[in-house]
Amino acid sequence: MSSVPVVRVALPTPLRRLFDYRAGPPGATGGEIEPGMRVRVPFGRQRLIGVATGTAAGSELPEERLKSVLERLDPQPIFDPATLALLAWAADYYHHPIGEVLAAALPKALRLGAAIDAIEERWVISPAGLEAYARGEPKRGPRQRQLLAALAQHRPEVTSSSPQPPGLTAAELDEKLESWRDAARALIARGWVIALERPTVATAAPMPAIADAGHGPEPNEEQHAAIERISGSLAAFGGFVLHGVTGSGKTEVYLRVVERVLRLGRSALVLVPEIGLTPQLVGRFRQRFAVPMAVLHSALTDHERLLAWREAFSGRARIVLGTRSAVFAPAQGLGVIIVDEEHDTSFKQHEGGFRYSARDLAVVRAQRADVPVVLGSATPALETLQNVATGRYSRLVLSRRAAHAVPPRLSLVDLRSTVVHAGISTPALQAIERHLAAGGQVLVFLNRRGYAPTLLCTACGWIAPCRDCDARLTVHRSIARLRCHHCGADTALPERCPQCGFAVKTVGQGTERIEETLATLFPNVTCIRLDRDVVRRRGDMEEAMRRMASGEARILVGTQMVTKGHDFPNVTLVVVLNADQGFFSTDFRAPERLAQTIVQVAGRAGRGEKAGEVLIQTEFPDHPLLRSLLAEGYEGFSRAALTERSQASWPPFSRLAAVRDSAKTAEAALAFLVEARKAAEELRAERGGGSDPRAPGRGVRLLGPAPAAMAKRAGRYHAQLLLESADRASLHRFLDAWLPALESLQSGRRVRWALDVDPIDIF
Ligand code: ADP
Ligand code: ZN
Ligand code: ZN
Repeated sequence: MSSVPVVRVALPTPLRRLFDYRAGPPGATGGEIEPGMRVRVPFGRQRLIGVATGTAAGSELPEERLKSVLERLDPQPIFDPATLALLAWAADYYHHPIGEVLAAALPKALRLGAAIDAIEERWVISPAGLEAYARGEPKRGPRQRQLLAALAQHRPEVTSSSPQPPGLTAAELDEKLESWRDAARALIARGWVIALERPTVATAAPMPAIADAGHGPEPNEEQHAAIERISGSLAAFGGFVLHGVTGSGKTEVYLRVVERVLRLGRSALVLVPEIGLTPQLVGRFRQRFAVPMAVLHSALTDHERLLAWREAFSGRARIVLGTRSAVFAPAQGLGVIIVDEEHDTSFKQHEGGFRYSARDLAVVRAQRADVPVVLGSATPALETLQNVATGRYSRLVLSRRAAHAVPPRLSLVDLRSTVVHAGISTPALQAIERHLAAGGQVLVFLNRRGYAPTLLCTACGWIAPCRDCDARLTVHRSIARLRCHHCGADTALPERCPQCGFAVKTVGQGTERIEETLATLFPNVTCIRLDRDVVRRRGDMEEAMRRMASGEARILVGTQMVTKGHDFPNVTLVVVLNADQGFFSTDFRAPERLAQTIVQVAGRAGRGEKAGEVLIQTEFPDHPLLRSLLAEGYEGFSRAALTERSQASWPPFSRLAAVRDSAKTAEAALAFLVEARKAAEELRAERGGGSDPRAPGRGVRLLGPAPAAMAKRAGRYHAQLLLESADRASLHRFLDAWLPALESLQSGRRVRWALDVDPIDIF
């Protein structure tokens, strides 16, 4: 115990606690340390960057063991109190160490110590340098002389009123001179040149005027009602589900709401799924508003991400548009949060330590900021619909397509009773022919890239396996490779069986093969493909879009990538090649995903004036959920699916958490979770046995442990233990009590484990 004033610091370590440090004299560390500022501190033999979360008058630690903060990194808090509180809430809810949560909320460059303000370096000539220059120095070194001459032209004026600061920046020098940096170093050493640093971004930039939103289409009645409802509650929290069929003009609603928010001088945060952040969407926002916008997504370099973050932090950007982690973006003066395609699973971080749902955190952030949140989708998640049913959210419906487009007709093709040609049934082929002849375009959807999922030897039965996964290698024929879609393993495509030497053959189909088949069957039309194998660079997707839009390409074959957000007004037929993966999964959410995918793909058809047709190939045409989807649309499907969930007491009728682990052997992976389960049962016996309804473990069911459906992945074995509870509070009380036991169980074992609260993949 000591009564020295300390700073409490959250450090990026797996330890679930804060660390105390002496503040140190402000003169030595760079100033007073306030909550939300980054600090550099000694930690063991390392130095770490953490975030001060508060101060205290004393510490549990004896005075002699308290170390001092080495350096304060920020002149002002990088996290304001509201954000700090939100992140503390998230650490609590997801049971994840606060230091790692705060780190996850920052771009990498800031975690490594980059400045919150952009710093601009300038090189300025010194008085001694001016005298030397007048004397005709330096005599040797033409570079040095050129540099000094350039800087002499931009000398500091003694009585200057010029707004131009003295000296030149690196960018300006790069333009004038080659390899000037060595020369600059030499001149600095002689005292003739001074290197200065100054922040370039003034915080609290003036609000730029917003462009008139006049050039959007006039909202229809339903859009108008939605816009008014949301805009009518801009001063307080409200959860709105914008349930609009594909093409109903949800984006137009977002744009109008954002416009109102901007007019109030506030900013908007727009979250989109990984795959939904297309230049098309960014373009629609840029076109509409002449305000600075920060765009944050995973394809940015660390530096670009830092620049976008600074745009938001400085308050310059009035719209922040980004994927998952943008939910933490420092939007200033927030007025609304929009989550587009809220059902999309990419909003859930399901790797690494901190597994959060950006959609759920967006709702919490909006609640705390007292602003509305809009969850938009044509196929809202069942959780979201249940929140509507219980009155937590209000639903705003856009039931019609905005631009006079007719909804598509859905029908099934029974794969058991038709001839199938390389994965495409005769009725589907006939339909493709008919639509092409009528001048339409066709979209063929298959959620599997590559040429074929299996390479087989018919002589000995050998199947090309992945060495490191419980999976087969996928054939990629155009590049003659075999690839594992789970671990990335990549080998040459053999022509002969490595076991018996006979010829091998491919079985099944991926998008590459479907493209080949269609190109052969319809040689007079251009068929293109859209999947992760063809979309490698940023422009590839646009190129495919352009070829479809211009009508040059008539058939588009693709994976999930084609389901999001693109407008193909002339597509009149959509073929879903395989609807069946969804029904026979161990994951109770698989049917929901399947229904969402079908509805989203179907939404690509008939967006123009022509009616669309959707064919769904299946071996199980009588599946009740598929039937309800066809007969009553997503609405009917979700009702049936929610009834099933309620009967099985799965979410949203219960709460789940999963502990997942992996180890070098299947036994070790399972053993850790067996022990974890024992610890959980002991905890229940110890503390939950009495009549205290608040005891941890009350009402918590343990399911498993069991090996994951694909137990071996990338050379490690995976297992899972599920926890289920009817109510959230008892689950969380239980986790609080149980996690320390789990942590101590790990010591001496070679397992990696992670807790996933509200998991969305159950395997
Ligand atoms: P969603 O996001 O719901 O799929 P979009 O916002 O992309 O739909 O709108 C689909 C198309 O309809 C777009 O081309 C859009 O410009 C157009 N649109 C939207 N609202 C209207 C409207 N009120 N009148 C005419 N066209 C509209
Ligand atoms: Zn063989
Ligand atoms: Zn593999």
